[in-house]
Amino acid sequence: MTTLDQPLVKAVGAKAAKKLAALDLETAGDLLRHYPRRYAQRGELTDLASLGDGEYVTVMAEVEKVQGRRITKKPGYILEVTVTDGSGRLILTFFGKGAHIPERELPPGTRGLFAGKVSFYRTKQGVKRQLVHPEYKALSAGAAADAAREFAEELIPVYPATKGLTSWQIADCVRIVLDTADPGADSLPERVRKRHRLVGLPEAYHGIHRPSDMAEAGRARKRLKWDEAFVLQTALAQRRRAASALSATSWPRREEGLLADFDERLPFELTEGQRSVGEEIASDLGRTHPMHRLLQGDVGAGKTVVGLRAMLQVVDAGGQAALLAPTEVLAQQHHRSIVAMLGPLAQAGRLGGAEHGTRVALLTGSQGAKARREGLLDAASGAAGIVIGTHALLQEHVQFADLGLVVIDEQHRFGVEQRDALREKATGGRPHVLVMTATPIPRTVAMTVYGDLDTSALTQLPAGRSPIATHLVPSGNRAYWDRAWERIREEVERGRQAYVVCPRIGEEEGDEGDLSADEGGPSAAEEARRPPLAVLDVAPRLAEGPLHGLRLGVLHGRLHPDEKDATMRRFAAGELDVMVATTVIEVGVDVPNATVMVVMDADRFGVSQLHQIRGRVGRGGFPGLCLLVTDAAEESKARERLDAVASTLDGFELSRLDLEQRREGDVLGESQSGRRSSLRLLTLLRDEDIIREARAEATALVEEDPELRGHPGLAAELSALVDEERAEYLEKT
Ligand code: ADP
Ligand code: MG
Repeated sequence: MTTLDQPLVKAVGAKAAKKLAALDLETAGDLLRHYPRRYAQRGELTDLASLGDGEYVTVMAEVEKVQGRRITKKPGYILEVTVTDGSGRLILTFFGKGAHIPERELPPGTRGLFAGKVSFYRTKQGVKRQLVHPEYKALSAGAAADAAREFAEELIPVYPATKGLTSWQIADCVRIVLDTADPGADSLPERVRKRHRLVGLPEAYHGIHRPSDMAEAGRARKRLKWDEAFVLQTALAQRRRAASALSATSWPRREEGLLADFDERLPFELTEGQRSVGEEIASDLGRTHPMHRLLQGDVGAGKTVVGLRAMLQVVDAGGQAALLAPTEVLAQQHHRSIVAMLGPLAQAGRLGGAEHGTRVALLTGSQGAKARREGLLDAASGAAGIVIGTHALLQEHVQFADLGLVVIDEQHRFGVEQRDALREKATGGRPHVLVMTATPIPRTVAMTVYGDLDTSALTQLPAGRSPIATHLVPSGNRAYWDRAWERIREEVERGRQAYVVCPRIGEEEGDEGDLSADEGGPSAAEEARRPPLAVLDVAPRLAEGPLHGLRLGVLHGRLHPDEKDATMRRFAAGELDVMVATTVIEVGVDVPNATVMVVMDADRFGVSQLHQIRGRVGRGGFPGLCLLVTDAAEESKARERLDAVASTLDGFELSRLDLEQRREGDVLGESQSGRRSSLRLLTLLRDEDIIREARAEATALVEEDPELRGHPGLAAELSALVDEERAEYLEKT
C-alpha cells in the first residue's frame, strides 16, 4: 500500500518520478491531486481548427495520410502524417531514422492521441498547423497491446502535461498509484459527507481519474471541491476563533469629547449607512477583544468619515489611531482633509486649538527630516492622537504611546505582512483593525479571502450626488475626439476642473508607469501593440493644442512627494484647471469641483481600476462625465470591458466581471506559474453554494472541536495548507 505522503519514486520509478517532479508533483498524494483538465470522449475527435500557435496540446484525431520522403539535406528522411478531426487538419512531422517507427505504427485510419507543441507555418494553401516530433499513442487499428485495455473505457482523462511528459504517461502513473494507494483517514467528517451526499475519498479519486461516465466524474469533482472549500473554511473558522480569544484594550464611546464636537461641526448629515456602520464599529471598539472589520463601500460612499469617527472615539478614550493609505498622494490628502475637517480640534497645544483637542501627524517615506522628526515625536509621546502614513509607518521605527486602532484605507493594496506588522505596534494587547475598501468583493471571495474578517457595507452614496455619465470615444473618430477636449474647455469655463489620465509616465525607456500588473488589465497579447500613451507626451501636446491657454498640472509616481503634494494642493485649491496624471489619482483622491475625466487608452486599464479612476469626478453637487478614449476594435474583449464600465455604476457588478476575466490565481494573490495551489477545482465564482455550505459546516465543527482532536485527517490537511502557503494564500489580494 502506498500512503499519500510517500515519494513518487517508490510507486512509479526514478525516471517517471523525475519527470513528474517538473510538474511539482513529489508525492503519491500530489499526483492523485493532479486532476485531469478534461476528458476526451472515445470517438470524439478534437477540434483541430481551434489549436493556437505555441500551445501544448493533447488531441485525439484520425490518421488520414502518411507521406515519407527522402531528402538530400540533413536529416535524410522526413515523415509527414496528416491527422484529421473530419474537417480540420494537423500535420505531424518526424525527421530522421526514427521516423520509420511512426510510419509503421500510424497507418491511415488509426485513431490516436497526439501530444506536442503546436506551431504554425505558411504554405501556398494557407497557414498550416503542425506538431514536430509529437508523442503519440495509437488507440485502434495497429495499436500496441497495452492500448487494448483502454478500449474498455469511454472517457480518456486529459492531464495538464508538459514537455517530455504526455497526458497518457501521466495517466499511467496515476493508474499505478490509484491501484496501490491508501488515501488514509477521510478529512471530511462522515456526518458532513452524508448530509451533502458526497462520495468517499477513494471513490472520489477513482472517479476523477478513471470515470466510466461523466456523472461519475461529476460526483468525484463535487466531493473534491468540497475538500478544498472545507479545509480552507476550517482554517478560517479557527482563525476567527483565535482572534476572538485575543485581548485588546476597550475604548468605549464618550458622551462628550472630540467625536461629539466633530459631529457637531460636520457640514452634512451622515447617511443612514454611515450612522449604522458607525454604531457597529463603536460597539466593537468598546469590547475587550480586537475588532477585525472590513468596510466595503463604493467609490464616494464616504468611508473616510466613518474611519475618522472611529479614530476619534479611540482618542477620546485616551488611545491613538493610525490611518494607513496606499499612496503618498492619498496619505497627504487624508492628512489635509482630516486636519481641515477637525479644524481647531486638531490644533492641541497651538494657538486657537481646542482645549481637549489632539494633533494629526503625517509620516511618509520621503518627507523632510524635520517634519519627520516632529511626526515621530508626536506619535511616540502620544501628542498626536491620529497618525497618518503609508507603508513607511510599518517598516520604520515608529513608536506609539498607545496605539488602539489601525484604519487601513484601500485594503486591496495591503498584504498580510503589513497588517501583522502593525498589529505588533500595539503595546497592550492587539489594536482594533478596520479595513476600508472601495473595490467591492463578491461575496464568495469575501468569504474566502477575507473569511476571518467581519464585514460591513455602505450601500448608498451621500445624497445630492449626480451620477457619472460614461462614454466611449473611439480615438480614430476625429469629431468625437475634438468634442472630448471641447467638453473640458466648457467645464473649465463654468469654473469646474478636469482630469486627463494616461497609462504611462513616459520619457524613460521600458518604464511601467504606475500601472501595476495585478489589475486585471489587458493580456500580454494586447500589450504587444504600441506603447500606451504617456503623461509626459500627452501633457505638452494638450497644452499646445486643444487645451491651449488652460492651466495644466502634471502628476505621476516619479515626481518627488513634495512636488506631488504641491500639485495636488494647487489642483484642490482651484489653481489648476486640468490635471494630467497616471493612476496615482486612482484611489481616494477627492476634489469635489472636478467634473470631467478623459481616460486615454482606457482599454489598458482593468475594469475595477477604471471604476476607481472614474470615481474622482462627480463627487460634489455637479454631474460627472467620464470619457474613455480607446482604439480597441469594436468586437474585442477590451471593448467589451469598456462597454461594461460605461453601462453600470455598480462597483459590485464590475468587480464580478473583473474576477471573471482574471485568473483566479491572481485573485488569491498567487501567480499560476506552475506553483501548486490548494484550490484546484473550486472556483470562487461558480461554487458559491459549496463555499457557503462548507463555511457553515466548518464553523460548527470548530465550535464543537476547536483543536480538531476528533478529526486527525482534517487536522493533517490543515497543517499542510498552513505550512505551504498560509498567509499568502489566505490573505493577500
Ligand atoms: P470614499 O468612500 O470613496 O473614500 P470619501 O470618504 O472620500 O469617499 O467621501 C467622498 C466625499 O463625500 C467627501 O468629499 C466627503 O466629505 C463627502 N461626504 C461623506 N459623507 C457625506 C455625507 N453624508 N453627505 C455629504 N457628503 C458626504
Ligand atoms: Mg476613500
